[in-house]
Amino acid sequence: MSDLSADGALIAANIEAVKQRMAAACARVGRAPESVTLLPVTKTVPAERLRAAYAAGLRQCGENKVQEAREKSEALADLDLSWSIIGHLQTNKAKYVARFADAFQALDSLKLAEALERRLEIEGRTLDVFIQVNTSGEESKFGLEPSAAAGFARALAPFERLKVRGLMTLAIFSAEEAAVRACFRRLRAVQTAIREAAPGARVDELSMGMSGDFAWAIEEGATLVRVGQAIFGPRPLPDDHYWPGLGSKREKETP
Ligand SMILES: *Cc1c(COP(=O)(O)O)cnc(C)c1O
Repeated sequence: MSDLSADGALIAANIEAVKQRMAAACARVGRAPESVTLLPVTKTVPAERLRAAYAAGLRQCGENKVQEAREKSEALADLDLSWSIIGHLQTNKAKYVARFADAFQALDSLKLAEALERRLEIEGRTLDVFIQVNTSGEESKFGLEPSAAAGFARALAPFERLKVRGLMTLAIFSAEEAAVRACFRRLRAVQTAIREAAPGARVDELSMGMSGDFAWAIEEGATLVRVGQAIFGPRPLPDDHYWPGLGSKREKETP
């Protein structure tokens, strides 16, 4: 076996191990294992590793930065991979997302919604979107205030090419379980509030939980977890490269 195919097999084994832990978390709270989807987060993972992982069964990639996602999607255009952009997006990059992404999980402004809608129209495509909510109160994080989410969901109704699927959040960067769970509960409360205030809005999905906290997120109601390092190994760049202003506050270990 070549090194790359051995690596692909290791990635597939890691995905299986994460799925087992997801199923265990579901079982603890009486949920069906099919009620949670795993989105493998592939940021910083080079295209050739993804090709090997594809051979071992990978079909979805979550990427934080659109430029990196775009380059890899072009390098891997011959594969049947779907791409989710899970990080903050500048309005002037909406056109790239409209071109190749299947989902965008960090929608938090009408200006961006308008730019995406316009570009999707040109491309003749639609896009699954998640409204990002700031549940941690940390200034450095993107996302809407919880109290603004219902109004925002209502305002998205006329955008025909944006298919609202649910809500997304990043929990506080803390090793304290109670503080992390409080963020996940807040997202669920926002979902309830939107269902009451904007009955037409479809917000069934709760995208919350990453390598360090996905089991807690599932226990709190996550329907989609975004997991990178527990599948692909530690990243060379610190987290504040992806979430500017974070510093090195994150103390949680990848379990
Ligand atoms: C990187 C990233 C993740 C995954 O983090 P891991 O610690 O690698 O599991 C999840 N969500 C977002 C928005 C990310 O940028």
